Amino acid sequence: MNDRKLIRVEVDPNLCVGSGMCVNFNPDLFQIQPDGHAAYVGRKLDEMAALDAAELCPVSAINLIYEEQQ
Ligand code: SF4
Repeated sequence: MNDRKLIRVEVDPNLCVGSGMCVNFNPDLFQIQPDGHAAYVGRKLDEMAALDAAELCPVSAINLIYEEQQ
């Protein structure tokens, strides 16, 4: 079985409607940017919090990007 390593958290600006739910959920990790879309701003990758935020997002705009480990 391969371990998967989280390498980044992305918000798809084409999907994000700027609802702010992810920001309200965890303002240390997500902030609304000047363009009105959210971005992951956490200095560290918090996989569990990012997964929770991704589930909360009403338009599924939050994506966790993994690197497959050999
Ligand atoms: S919860 Fe989803 S739609 Fe709302 S601001 Fe965050 S990423 Fe954008």
